[in-house]
Amino acid sequence: MSDALSGPLTAESIAGAAYIVAALLFILSLAGLSRHERARAGVLYGVSGMVIALAATIWLTLQNAMGAGQGNVSLVLLFAAVLVGGAIGLWRARVVEMTGMPELIALLHSFVGLAAVLVGWNGHLLAPDLPEDLQAIHHAEVFIGVFIGAVTFTGSIVAFLKLSARLKSSPLMLPGKNLLNVGALAVFVSLTIWYVNDSQLWLLVVVTVLALGLGWHLVASIGGGDMPVVVSMLNSYSGWAAAAAGFLLNNDLLVITGALVGSSGAYLSYIMCKAMNRSFLSVIAGGFGVEAPKGVDIDFGDHRGTTAEATAELLANASSVVITPGYGMAVAQAQYPVAELTQRLRERGVNVRFGIHPVAGRLPGHMNVLLAEAKVPYDIVLEMDEINDDLADASVVLVIGANDTVNPAAAEDPGSPIAGMPVLRVWEAESIIVFKRSMAAGYAGVQNPLFYRENVQMLFGDAKEQVEAISRALSAAYPRQTVS
Ligand code: NDP
Repeated sequence: MSDALSGPLTAESIAGAAYIVAALLFILSLAGLSRHERARAGVLYGVSGMVIALAATIWLTLQNAMGAGQGNVSLVLLFAAVLVGGAIGLWRARVVEMTGMPELIALLHSFVGLAAVLVGWNGHLLAPDLPEDLQAIHHAEVFIGVFIGAVTFTGSIVAFLKLSARLKSSPLMLPGKNLLNVGALAVFVSLTIWYVNDSQLWLLVVVTVLALGLGWHLVASIGGGDMPVVVSMLNSYSGWAAAAAGFLLNNDLLVITGALVGSSGAYLSYIMCKAMNRSFLSVIAGGFGVEAPKGVDIDFGDHRGTTAEATAELLANASSVVITPGYGMAVAQAQYPVAELTQRLRERGVNVRFGIHPVAGRLPGHMNVLLAEAKVPYDIVLEMDEINDDLADASVVLVIGANDTVNPAAAEDPGSPIAGMPVLRVWEAESIIVFKRSMAAGYAGVQNPLFYRENVQMLFGDAKEQVEAISRALSAAYPRQTVS
């Protein structure tokens, strides 16, 4: 306990109170972020919570350091770390493209994992003088923290490499991969019992290497379309790693924040698994029985092309239009012209709605963020389950830069690597226009038979340019009425 303050108030109790306020703000932030309308307030709560948490931590560290006569050294180290970390964070956040967010997040998760490993090692090397009954708890905290942190570290690095296309997205298929994962977990449990009873350094070395290998293997053996689950799973692991570090550092805020991230990440993984029709338990057990993709190129026949002018004509005569955006809309930054086209069609009395697949893009909620940015009204942006039954009644569906999320093979081909994943059933509509630049496959690397269906036409080119060309053609043919 610091004696920097006299009386009943200590530095710890003041910081503890600040941590509770920060934790409440984080909970309010999560609640706010769960609804479009309150998202901005949610971000503000989160930022305020983080400012309070940082200020309290810096202040507490300085109080303790001054109490121990090391004020100046701590001050310099602390501010150097905050300045360097803050500057890098600010720079990355400013330059990152929206499409690069998932890989940035994966990289940030890896830092959390690494931090947990370092805190765990520190807990071993500078073991506090504890009574015997608390020693065992301390050893368990060190060992489990290092394990979770190391799995998160290498797992997140592989996710980063896959999402940034530096590593192929196809799954690594080592023989007996499930046995390898289960075996590694069994070794971890045995080593934990050993270490709790006899905390030898070499055991910590072995578990670190084991966990680094397991993290790498877990994520490397998951392929293509299943990556969204992995990203949210690593998000959850990074939370548990932070919570483990919180126990070791005796920092309540880190425990609460870690638990919030860990449990909300786990819940997100559960929602993702439901959306992808995968078993949650097999995912958290690691490497959920992904079959090697067949990689067979089937000849589906010929596709038909169309033009922006013909599409404008089709839209002008439509009564109901559904837009299903995907990763390509984000790459092209087409959300603004899409919003403009939507407004133009609505002015003509066309019923325009959006159908959002839960894993469209490269990040949960990716499409919702882009559409909100372009000020598309929330009430016409519907989730996949809300729109799927209405697609058969749509006159036109515009598939803007989406591919895997509208692939009928998921529903119709049990041998497909994305078999069983619910998709937007766009092919049930009267006419479908697919915006993309080529006949290339989507993220999962699977051919899409949709493009060859009778009611489907391909509009090749950059999505932004094509949507703008449609709006131009519409305004040339049907100029906006000016109010006299
Ligand atoms: P896909 O990644 O399947 O397909 C995107 C399509 O956009 C491509 O076929 C590409 O075709 C086209 N495209 C790219 N750039 C442009 C452009 N400038 N103009 C027009 N078209 C363009 O997208 P979906 O959103 O349908 O599916 C998301 C995929 O990502 C799923 O497999 C999902 O599992 C995975 N994933 C999702 C995550 C998430 O959390 N949402 C996280 C990680 C992965 P072309 O090159 O011919 O133009």
